[in-house]
This record gives sequence, C-alpha cells and structure tokens, in this order.
Amino acid sequence: MERADLIVCQDLSLGYEGKRVLSGLNLRVQSGDYLCVVGDNGSGKSTLLRGLLGLLPPLEGTIRHAAELERGAVGYLPQQTRAQRDFPATVEEVVLSGCLNQKGLRFFYSAAQRSRALMNLGKLGVLELRKRSYRELSGGQQQRVLLARALCAAGRLLILDEPVTGLDPAAAQDLYKTLRYLNRKEGMALVMVTHDLRPALRDAGSVLHIGHKGIFLGTPAEYLDSPYGKRFREVAE
Ligand code: ADP
Repeated sequence: MERADLIVCQDLSLGYEGKRVLSGLNLRVQSGDYLCVVGDNGSGKSTLLRGLLGLLPPLEGTIRHAAELERGAVGYLPQQTRAQRDFPATVEEVVLSGCLNQKGLRFFYSAAQRSRALMNLGKLGVLELRKRSYRELSGGQQQRVLLARALCAAGRLLILDEPVTGLDPAAAQDLYKTLRYLNRKEGMALVMVTHDLRPALRDAGSVLHIGHKGIFLGTPAEYLDSPYGKRFREVAE
C-alpha cells in the first residue's frame, strides 16, 4: 500500500520566545507509522508534540500537514493531570466530548457521533462502563476512556504524551497492546512520547531520541546500536 505523508518537518526549530528548545529536525510521519519519541526530561518531547499539533509555530523551518489532518483528523491524548482524574462527568460524556470539534454550530451531538463514541468504547473494552462516573474509575480504565475519546477525533493519526504514566504494569501492558492493535490492524499512525523504552523498541517502527546533545532518528535496531541506545542496551543485558 502506498504510504501517504501525514506530517513533514523540515529543518525545524521549535522553542519559546525566540529561544530554541530543539533544532535541525527533519521528520516525516506517514500513514501507518508508529514513532516513539524518547529522551531526557526537559529535552523538548512535549514541545515537539505541540509543534506537530499546530499549537506552536516553528521558529525556523517548516511543518507541513496533509490536508485531511487540517480538517481535524488528529487525536490527542495529553498527559493526565490530577484535576482531570477528578472530572465530574459520565464516561459517555467524556468520550463524546472528543467529537466536539466536529460539532460545528449544532448544539447536540449527531446520532453518528454517538454511535462512533460507543463504537470506540467497545473497541477499547470499556463499553459497559459508559453510564459510570469517570472520576470513580481506576487509572487504567480512565486512560482507556481517554483513548476512546481521542479516537473520536482521530481519523488517521493519534498523538500520545506519556500514556502509561501512573498506571500499574498490567494496565500499562494492556494499553500498549491496544495501541499495537490500533496501529497494525486499523492502520492508525501513532506518535507517542514515552519514558518506557521496552515497548518503544518492541512495537515502534522508528525511534526519535531528543537529547541535550542532539537528535537521533532511526529504527529500534539502529537506536540500540547508536550511542543514544547504548545506555539502555547495558541495562537490558
Ligand atoms: P520534555 O517533554 O522532554 O520533558 P518539554 O518540551 O516539556 O520537555 O520542555 C523543553 C524545554 O522547554 C524545557 O526547558 C522547558 O522548561 C521549556 N518549556 C516548556 N514549555 C514552555 C513554555 N510554555 N514556555 C517556556 N518554556 C517552556
């Protein structure tokens, strides 16, 4: 199958108030890709996601989005804050709010949007929770609900910022399995920031390491062979 470009970054620099956080990035995200973004704290991973989402204009270089993404076909799963965990709404309401940017000027959600929300809850195995209050769910259940919400917006691309933070190891593995399914069986392109290198190396097609000393982009095998991956290889052996 022909793989279409979704996002192309050329000689990209991003930062705040003219101060560069990352620079010289050349990156192509294509349909069906699974890209993991790793690196030290404060190196610019979330900044890159903001750039990819079009929330932060480039200081230098360009970010081009495919036309279909301009129409809002990107799903975003942000890092969860404590306040969000206490959100007072039902599961169904939380997931439906993922369709908000397609609601236009209409006041009510359409039947198609409702069925899409239910379908995504089913896909993530949490349909039976739909009438429950979101704040009463476990961390793993909440993350599945938020992923279902992001899927309501995501036509082609899902952008995730540390999706397993705060989850126990079993819930984290479940979530990775779901992401693998969405990528391999449904062709959803994924860009995921993670601290967790093992799933990044096992599931991803490419790894982007953003370090204070430079940027590495390659396959998981190339990453392991590189000076950036060396530290991890020593831990894994
Ligand atoms: P990471 O996600 O890799 O931990 P971030 O992208 O959050 O790193 O941050 C990279 C750098 O940009 C840090 O030095 C941080 O202090 C700075 N930074 C992040 N957000 C802002 C902001 N809104 N305004 C100014 N500086 C910021």
